[in-house]
Amino acid sequence: MVSRVIPVEPFDLVLFGATGDLARRKILPGLFHRYEVGQVPEEARIIGSARTDMNPDDFKADVRAAIEEFTPDTPSRPAVLDRFLGCLDYVSVDAMSDAGWAALNDRLRPDVVRAFYLSVGPSLFAGIAEQLEKHGMATPDARIVVEKPFGRNLETARDLNASLRKFFQEHQIYRIDHYLGKETVQNLMALRFANSLFEPLWNATHIDHVQITVAESLGIEGREAYYDHSGAMRDMVQNHLVQLLCLTAMEPPSKFTPNAVRDEKVKVIEALDPVASTDIARGQYRALEGEDGYLDHVGDPQSRTESFIAMKVRIANWRWAGVPFYLRTGKRLRARVSEIMVQFRDPPHTIFPNVEPVHGNKLIIRLQPDEGITLRTTIKDPGPGGFRLAEVPLDMSFAEALGADSRPQDAYERLVMDVIRGDQTLFMRGDEVEAAWAWADPIIEGWERTRDRPFPYDQGSSGPEEALMLMHRDGRRWRQIGG
Ligand code: NAP
Repeated sequence: MVSRVIPVEPFDLVLFGATGDLARRKILPGLFHRYEVGQVPEEARIIGSARTDMNPDDFKADVRAAIEEFTPDTPSRPAVLDRFLGCLDYVSVDAMSDAGWAALNDRLRPDVVRAFYLSVGPSLFAGIAEQLEKHGMATPDARIVVEKPFGRNLETARDLNASLRKFFQEHQIYRIDHYLGKETVQNLMALRFANSLFEPLWNATHIDHVQITVAESLGIEGREAYYDHSGAMRDMVQNHLVQLLCLTAMEPPSKFTPNAVRDEKVKVIEALDPVASTDIARGQYRALEGEDGYLDHVGDPQSRTESFIAMKVRIANWRWAGVPFYLRTGKRLRARVSEIMVQFRDPPHTIFPNVEPVHGNKLIIRLQPDEGITLRTTIKDPGPGGFRLAEVPLDMSFAEALGADSRPQDAYERLVMDVIRGDQTLFMRGDEVEAAWAWADPIIEGWERTRDRPFPYDQGSSGPEEALMLMHRDGRRWRQIGG
């Protein structure tokens, strides 16, 4: 399969926080890859910005080092990398002061697409937006990209939205949720809405339940302070898992346009039932011999922040009445896996009475590792030894299906190109973020009020026993993490 690369229009992209971790690890390497395949045109300019005082050559040297560290080797690299670095510039600004902003404005061209990527802490979003306006850079077609976290509750999300909307209109604001940039996540929409096979079955009549798992084997290294202030619910569920749930559960939009897709996602969030505390299991990884636990990592033996959460969520609409969505995410689990598993109902009647029972089909949408889709189907166990049934996968790995030459795009590559193209489909709209907080806030307030402690769990496990019980009570089982 050959993928076509259509170059985007020339652009000026100002990358605030250009010396930071995210810019060096994801955004700049992503832009380099898009340059390498010819999508970023030679006329593009990427202007790094941060408080650090350095000249453009120092910045280019830093970006070279970042790309060499964070991208796999390609034969064309040295020459292409040199040319890519030619597109880079650097201007030092401080979001909290007026210094440097006029110089930044001087670097911008009036006749090309203009985008500002705020890869900085959210406390700087409002200040940067204001400076852009004050120095005449917030032109009506400029785009502004903001990173997560977008607020820590409904009130702060509303404040952030209000401060951005003072200077930019909604169609100019790109709120990143990098899960939406993953190939498989978009393929979920293609699978559902470009095939006639699945949609007739995509409802409570045929689906027993859905499991959404985002498991990480790493802990909270390097982010201890942020994480302990946030926890798995705010850091993962309110944004990434809710987004995955929306794409799985939404009605077909009438067309594939940003607002039509996002309208349908908002309807799903607004249909989420409140979650009872008995349908939630929160966990915290405990210390192992020779290995610190969560409480040691955050340096607070009293911390009640969860590093794991599992919950049963219900969507109150006709399509999903009675179909639970089980969400689970956590740190220091047995493997790094993100997937959506759709469990279809068992056949209504078995005609094979003396064989092991036939189980309902499973559709597994893998986000990482090895993005792809598997449909688990039941066949006759081959051979003459009697009639037995066996479950086998119909498997599609994107890496294989798209050919050996095709390197899967990182989510950031796609999302940055979408910003330049002006396509907001894979970005969260303001009302969507607020609706997700309106659903999450009472859940968080519930355990803050009762001062419940998370249940301890072993590092390298599947989470606390209580998460398994959440499923067992319903006569169901979690899919094994990494299984
Ligand atoms: P980081 O490593 O701490 O980098 C922050 C950047 O902001 C640095 O370049 C810093 O450079 C600049 N900065 C700080 N204060 C500034 C100011 N007053 N004016 C102008 N620039 C300033 O943070 P990060 O990990 O890259 O994260 C950036 C954003 O992305 C955050 O909102 C984070 O939550 C989000 N995010 C990060 C990741 C990730 O994997 N890292 C993942 C998802 C989301 P100077 O010190 O030179 O000013």
